[in-house]
Amino acid sequence: MRLPGLTPWCRVHALSEVDPAELRALGFRLVLLDRDNTCVPRGESDPAPDVVAWCERARERGLRLALVSNNWSVRALRQTSEALSAPVVTFAMKPLPFGLQRAMDAAGVPKEQTVLVGDQLFTDGLGASMAKIPVILVDPQSTKDLFYTRLLRPVEARLMASVPYGWARVRDERAHGAR
Ligand SMILES: [Mg+2]
Repeated sequence: MRLPGLTPWCRVHALSEVDPAELRALGFRLVLLDRDNTCVPRGESDPAPDVVAWCERARERGLRLALVSNNWSVRALRQTSEALSAPVVTFAMKPLPFGLQRAMDAAGVPKEQTVLVGDQLFTDGLGASMAKIPVILVDPQSTKDLFYTRLLRPVEARLMASVPYGWARVRDERAHGAR
């Protein structure tokens, strides 16, 4: 079962599987990053070394980064933002597209060159769809979720059951001229 507008552009197990060089080759210049369970396990503020390393690698490849989070803890967000050297949009209210748009406006990068990486279909996936940008869906870093997210995870799992992991579909689309 797949719903229109809710099928991610790409699905990977973790951010570290996203190849910054590949994103650049596809014409992207800005990567918007969800924070909780994408960059840091929910309830923590310090990103793992592989996430920090990924951000450095992405910047070396010429990508700009910004965190876009629904989290309301400004202090925790600032800590992650500093650790990743990436600006942050707080109170993003995904799936509404305004926070994502704010991050694109702040970076001065149009939506055609922007991609979002997140772990939740109903906030990140739907938000990206509303903002008209592609989304790369990662597996959540931890099983800790807010209670309403926990309610949605089984629905999400059902919708994602037939979506394969990996870049094969993306490469295929590129080969056929679509993004
Ligand atoms: Mg998240």
